[in-house]
Amino acid sequence: MRNAADSQPRRSTVHLTAQQGHFAREVSRRAHVNIARCWHCKCCSNGCPFAAAMDFYPNQVIRLAQLGLKRQALESSSIWICVGCNTCSVECPQAIDVAAVMDALRQMAIAEKAAVGEPNILEFHREVVESIRRYGRTHKLEIMMRYKLKKHDWLSDVNIALQMLSKRKLDLRPSRVKRLEQIQAVFQNILQAKGHEQR
Ligand code: SF4
Ligand code: SF4
Repeated sequence: MRNAADSQPRRSTVHLTAQQGHFAREVSRRAHVNIARCWHCKCCSNGCPFAAAMDFYPNQVIRLAQLGLKRQALESSSIWICVGCNTCSVECPQAIDVAAVMDALRQMAIAEKAAVGEPNILEFHREVVESIRRYGRTHKLEIMMRYKLKKHDWLSDVNIALQMLSKRKLDLRPSRVKRLEQIQAVFQNILQAKGHEQR
């Protein structure tokens, strides 16, 4: 005969180590979300246009963070494949900004010198940021050329580049924003803050 305790849903508690708990809280703090609120409905993963290319679906990345599994989260390819389109954040019924979590994990992966799951994507990000620092906006042709130069890979996307050039989707010369010095001051402030952090 079943007693009252049997009819209650079974609950299990996951006990995190101090380090795991610290990592989970740090992700929440950096992303300005409470990842503990995720109930794994998978709405984020179902809406993500890049989920199929990821090693962990977005809700699984949240789970890694909840469990404080730092190495798995920071070395995951998903955090680099994510393009920050925000679809997941909009879909989440718990108002968890999943895209911000991905961003926080990318920052932490760099800060912790984790083995980057997609080093080519990180390299490409660096070229995009460098272009913004130089011109205040992106100059796509130069980004691609600098990236290709670093990778010693000139031939793989030639057809796409030619098509884009023929449709005038690639400017040959960079254009600068009017108040470039303001953009460059932002970069300077970030570098200074980083210098203070590392002292
Ligand atoms: S949509 Fe929100 S609640 Fe659902 S799995 Fe994703 S992060 Fe968790
Ligand atoms: S922000 Fe990233 S994780 Fe979210 S839906 Fe877009 S690509 Fe997927």
